[in-house]
Amino acid sequence: MADLAAAIAQRIGREGPLSLASFMAMALHDPEGGYYARHDPLGRAGDFITAPEISQIFGELIGLWCADMWRRIGQPDPVIVAELGPGRGTLMADFLRAAETVPEFRRALRLHLVEASARLRAEQQCRLAAADPCFVASLDALPPGPLLLVANEFLDALPIRQLVRGPADWRERLVGLDAAGRLAFVDGPESPVLSLLVPESLRAAPTGAMVEICPAASALAATLGERLAQYPGAALLIDYGHFPSRTGATLAAVRRHRPAAILDGPGSADLSAHVDFAAIAAAAGAAGTKVYGPVPQGRFLAALGAEARLAALSARADPTMRAELAGGLERLIDPAQMGNLFKALALTSPALPAPAGFT
Ligand code: SAH
Repeated sequence: MADLAAAIAQRIGREGPLSLASFMAMALHDPEGGYYARHDPLGRAGDFITAPEISQIFGELIGLWCADMWRRIGQPDPVIVAELGPGRGTLMADFLRAAETVPEFRRALRLHLVEASARLRAEQQCRLAAADPCFVASLDALPPGPLLLVANEFLDALPIRQLVRGPADWRERLVGLDAAGRLAFVDGPESPVLSLLVPESLRAAPTGAMVEICPAASALAATLGERLAQYPGAALLIDYGHFPSRTGATLAAVRRHRPAAILDGPGSADLSAHVDFAAIAAAAGAAGTKVYGPVPQGRFLAALGAEARLAALSARADPTMRAELAGGLERLIDPAQMGNLFKALALTSPALPAPAGFT
């Protein structure tokens, strides 16, 4: 949107070049021109499609995973079930339906949703009205007590910074203006301080190497870690990304299922980057939680009984539906599609045994 590009350019004029994180925060979340304010990003008609929109089995198995964790933490009543970035509420709708098979869990759970987009909040409220969701602004705003938290494709949307190894030290890739006043990538100065932000395993990377860091994701993992050290519970974080940390630029803009230029038309394309699961694990672990995985999504879903669930659904389906169900699950599990790139990471309170799917 021209207006948002102009607003970003004005800010650069006032403050100098912005970090990519500041640019991303405006492009995604500006209350008027931001991507999430203007779009329903998900599904075939949107810009990208996510696992819960592909197969109902995804949310169902996550619901059962949480029901199992609830038993392991001693069946607390009430228990907070929280989702970060619930999108259209599809995962949670499937989760809650599956949770009906453990009625005590379904009755005990208090649904809390963290969602930045007013538009998506309205959709979630409508879709999940039966569970009377409580919307909170952030993880810190959740009430105290036992917690089961899920997040799918949430971390990849958090703002990142890109650091580049220069001849002497690290510098930051910033968003500035070119001679014509258009948004353009510019190099910040080299600084020894920036090298402290680079994961230790990558600090010796060769000149020209790029490292992406996501301070918001690390802060969130630390908060979750502290919380799970204090109250019983678990978190399941699923996203596309890598483990261990690695170099390389992954930030990408997507508009209607196609790659777009990152700085072109801020607010009109989704922006996301691969998740560094090693950084998340390190931040959560340092805060006192136990960390499991990440395991590839395909392996995780298979271990939770995806095939058995597919067979049960197929038995009741007509041939068209059956093909759709099988194709959907295949897409989530096949290593060449989403099965390997997407990964599941679990965080649990310290005294618990390894959760299902992580043994
Ligand atoms: N989990 C859903 C949606 C993924 S898209 C699914 O799998 O289909 C990312 C979601 O996170 C959207 O709902 C988006 O509005 C939300 N989101 C992105 N950044 C956020 C932030 N900083 N705080 C809260 N919600 C955010």
